[in-house]
Amino acid sequence: MEFLSATTIEEWLRKCGHVFSENKEELTQLDAAIGDADHGTNMARGFAAVATKLDTLQDKTIGSLFQATAMTLISKVGGASGPLYGTFFLQASRRTSGKLALTLSELCVGFDAGLGGIIGLGKAAVGDKTMIDALTPALAAMHPNGPEDTFHAALDRAVASARFGAENTIPLVARKGRASYLGERSVGHKDPGAASSALLLEALASVIPA
Ligand code: ADP
Ligand code: MG
Repeated sequence: MEFLSATTIEEWLRKCGHVFSENKEELTQLDAAIGDADHGTNMARGFAAVATKLDTLQDKTIGSLFQATAMTLISKVGGASGPLYGTFFLQASRRTSGKLALTLSELCVGFDAGLGGIIGLGKAAVGDKTMIDALTPALAAMHPNGPEDTFHAALDRAVASARFGAENTIPLVARKGRASYLGERSVGHKDPGAASSALLLEALASVIPA
C-alpha cells in the first residue's frame, strides 16, 4: 500500500507558493478579462503567507498542515477565492487530523470533503464557470481505480481532468462570483479559479516521490 507523507504534503503547500508566483501574471490576466484582475496576486500572496506560516508551525501532522493553510488563506486572501480555497483545506483538515500519512483513498476523502465545503459556501454547480468546473472532474478522476493504483497515476488523471475542465469553462456563461455580473460577456474566457485549481493539483503531482 502506497502512502503520501505529511512531509510531501508540506512540500506541496510550499510548492504552491512558487507555482502561484510563477503563474501570477497569467491568472491575473484571466481575471482581468472577466473579473477584477486580482486572482494571480491573491493566490501568490496567499501561498507566500502559507509558506511563512509553515516555518513556525509545530504540529506538522497532515490535518494541522491543512488547517494552517486554511486559516492563512481565509485571513490573507481578499476576494472570493480565499474563503473558498480556505474552506477546501479546512474541510480536508477535519478528515486528516493527527495523520502523518494518507492512502490515496484517504486523500480522496479529504479532498472530496474540501470540494463539498467549497460548494456549501459558494453554492456553485458544475457549469457555472467557477473552480468547481475544474475540481469536480479532477477529484472524480483521482479516485483509486483498483488496489494497484498509484498517487502518480491518480494525480496525472486529476491534472488532465482539471486542465480539461478549466478549458471547458471558456464557452460558459458565468453564473457565480464577479464574472457573473458580465452575463453573456463572460463567454470566450477561461475562468481564473478553474485555472488556479488545475495549478494546485499540478503542484501536488510535481512533488509526488517517484
Ligand atoms: P474575486 O472574484 O473576489 O476577485 P478572485 O479573483 O481571487 O476573487 O477569485 C475569483 C474566482 O473565484 C473565480 O474565477 C471563480 O473560479 C471563483 N469563484 C467565485 N465565486 C465562486 C463561487 N460562488 N463558488 C465557487 N467558486 C467561485
Ligand atoms: Mg478577482
